[in-house]
Amino acid sequence: MVDIRSVHKSFGPLDVLKGIDLQVRTGEVTVVLGPSGSGKSTLLRTINHLEKADRGEITVDGTPIGYRRAGDRLHELPEREVLRRRTKIGFVFQNFNLFPHLTVLDNVIEAPVSALKRPRKEAEEDARRLLARVGLADKSAAYPRQLSGGQQQRVAIARALALKPRLLLFDEPTSALDPELVGEVLDVIRDLAARGTTMIVVTHEIAFAREVADTVVFMADGRIVEQGPPAAVLDAPREERTRAFLAKVL
Ligand code: ATP
Ligand code: MG
Repeated sequence: MVDIRSVHKSFGPLDVLKGIDLQVRTGEVTVVLGPSGSGKSTLLRTINHLEKADRGEITVDGTPIGYRRAGDRLHELPEREVLRRRTKIGFVFQNFNLFPHLTVLDNVIEAPVSALKRPRKEAEEDARRLLARVGLADKSAAYPRQLSGGQQQRVAIARALALKPRLLLFDEPTSALDPELVGEVLDVIRDLAARGTTMIVVTHEIAFAREVADTVVFMADGRIVEQGPPAAVLDAPREERTRAFLAKVL
């Protein structure tokens, strides 16, 4: 489903991704761990083509998000087409990024109506169903500022799901939340995993990773240091850097 080959990314003189190879199979959950600055967010943004890889190739369901293949050459796509392809990938950020001036319901239907041109009625029906699924059936008329952080993040997840994405990317979805609100968001992600949603989740929630991940990836300094099933990477890491990191976060 996601195929990342030899991806490099620099910002000026700073090499942030130094040759990333990662495959994510359909229906599987990959949890990415690693110290601050190791390139986790950049990797997610590169998958979504919010950042352009300098070298290497990323495909989602066999399709590069930012390019068109002609023979063995890749041609950059116009922004409109990139946006259309990107709707196949849901992105949930640390800071929710809801539209503050829109109600919960309007936040969820905004992209389906404007980007996918879905009829408003139909989009609303879907949105209400998704809000019920994340436990917010009664909040559709509220504004983001009237919600707790955990509720806002659940709206953000419903909004991502409204595009019926093939892949969901989460960048530290619980790290801006008060501790007592973390569980309600992890519960929603856990439910998505149980439904076979393909996801890449950057998080420091180790217990959650152990329970939900098919694969745990440990990144440091722009490289994947170690990857494998949670029992291997979390409980019997082979690399010293993984051990040192886990000793700090556990
Ligand atoms: P954290 O756990 O703190 O979120 P991270 O693993 O997500 O860290 P990234 O945000 O991917 O790390 O950043 C990796 C490095 O790239 C950092 O040194 C960061 O300062 C740098 N960086 C990220 N985005 C940019 C940018 N747009 N321009 C310049 N440097 C950037
Ligand atoms: Mg980050």
